Amino acid sequence: MPLTPDSHEQYTIRKSQDLLKIGLILPNQVAEIDQVNACFSMAVTPDIMALIDLSNPNDAIARQFIPNTRELQIQAEELADPIGDAPHTPVKGITHRYPDRVLLKPVHVCPVYCRFCFRREVVGNHGEGLSPDELEAALSYIRTHPEIWEVILTGGDPLILSKAKLSQIIQALDQIDHLDVIRIHTRVLVVDPSRIDGEIAQILRVSKPVYVVLHTNHPQEFSDAARRACATLVDAGIPMLSQTVLLKGINDSPEILTQLFRTLIRNRIKPYYLHHADLAKGTSHFRTTIQEGQTLLRALRGRVSGICQPTYVLDIPGGYGKVPIGPQYLQAKEGDNFYVEDPWSEVHVYPPLQ
Ligand SMILES: *Cc1c(COP(=O)(O)O)cnc(C)c1O
Ligand code: SF4
Repeated sequence: MPLTPDSHEQYTIRKSQDLLKIGLILPNQVAEIDQVNACFSMAVTPDIMALIDLSNPNDAIARQFIPNTRELQIQAEELADPIGDAPHTPVKGITHRYPDRVLLKPVHVCPVYCRFCFRREVVGNHGEGLSPDELEAALSYIRTHPEIWEVILTGGDPLILSKAKLSQIIQALDQIDHLDVIRIHTRVLVVDPSRIDGEIAQILRVSKPVYVVLHTNHPQEFSDAARRACATLVDAGIPMLSQTVLLKGINDSPEILTQLFRTLIRNRIKPYYLHHADLAKGTSHFRTTIQEGQTLLRALRGRVSGICQPTYVLDIPGGYGKVPIGPQYLQAKEGDNFYVEDPWSEVHVYPPLQ
């Protein structure tokens, strides 16, 4: 599948030796980083590199993209297919888990490789995109399933496709009568913002609404270029939502999450999902507990504007779907009365007792 030739592509860092040159790793780490790279792809774009604070060993950007030997520690509960895409794949490139919507995955590459990627076993430099025939078969599956209301382009990152290919796919989807909505899941706007221009915005302006959902995990990802890329799409009338992965040591504090969600709203992007980190292989150092996640969300409710609040979700391993996992404010029921907790942890009876 043709990708957009990016003028920056030659500067994307893909080797341990390049990390060494920049000073992100020490000479004695090269061999172990090579070991990690043999298992999971690495790519760091110049835009992301520029956001790393080299003096901070816990930099939130570096931790997301620079390989770490902790990735070689695979836990017993970790899975090659953590969210169970495989059992719901009727044809190559399609995941059909919910009746009214499918994932369409034309590419298996991304401009960067997140170290906690939930599809890290299939996404990467080794991955193969769909051939033209396979893409046609995937589109044909969508055409012949009238119950499909929405198509979600994901992957890999669909906005890495060449403009001609992206346009061809969007046009083909736009012509399917029973489809109402096209959604694109991408990280390009923050990790490689120069790919977004007026032409991309025009490609996404078809007769059906195209929603763009941005994967972003930290306010530091919003460079001036990233903000401009988001504005280019929103100004063109493309609604934007976000998804964030809850990551230990990166964004698991009320302050960082507040900053992130406020930054999103300021950029006209509605926080949609906060994902509990999936059980992808070698990612245990990134996972919080569900209780920690619930405590964080409790800290935001009531104190931060309601439009800044995403839904905290778990993708149940095995392909059983995403569900909200709290926190829960409605407590036990007694007769016709509920007990409900307010944002300041006080419990009230509903309806109020006479
Ligand atoms: C996440 C996901 C979707 C989209 O779910 P929403 O709750 O609509 O955002 C659709 N299909 C699959 C297989 C998914 O994993
Ligand atoms: S952008 Fe998404 S698909 Fe690509 S590496 Fe990151 S989490 Fe995985």
